[in-house]
Amino acid sequence: MTKLTFMFFFTIPYSITVGWAWPYLMIALFLAEKPGLENGLVVTAQWRPWFAKRFPFSMAIGRGVVYHPAPGIRGGMLTPTQTQFHEHVHIRQIEDMMLVGFLVAAAVLTVTALAGHAEYRLAALLWFTSAEWRLLSYVASFLRGERLYEDAEPEKSARAQSEHLKPMTIFTE
Ligand SMILES: [Zn+2]
Repeated sequence: MTKLTFMFFFTIPYSITVGWAWPYLMIALFLAEKPGLENGLVVTAQWRPWFAKRFPFSMAIGRGVVYHPAPGIRGGMLTPTQTQFHEHVHIRQIEDMMLVGFLVAAAVLTVTALAGHAEYRLAALLWFTSAEWRLLSYVASFLRGERLYEDAEPEKSARAQSEHLKPMTIFTE
């Protein structure tokens, strides 16, 4: 599971807005239920059964995860705890991208400030959106002629790190 480390700092703009809000928004729209909180200040919910039938995925957006209630995510190989671990890999990927985004934003701010016109808004936009720069990996898999979702590198990484785990190994962390 995701530990709360200094990396959380880089995710703050996205975590405290989209990340924490979206599971509650799904609950408000009666699409999800069972709000929760997991390690690393990750806000969670679970799709309601009627929606889960139509949308067979768990999803991490920022520091918020909405889980599918059935263990059979994408082919029925994952247990619920493996799914948790899988989604937490995505959360760590977002941390990594937002560190990159923070540094890019800092560079833009520094360069534009030195040029006499600091671009605060552009820097803020770059930092905020960097949470989803990982989606470019899904574009890349498509451009390689591979499957958009299954063959994207963040997806392959999350699957490889979670599918061999037994549920107990996760709980003892
Ligand atoms: Zn995934």
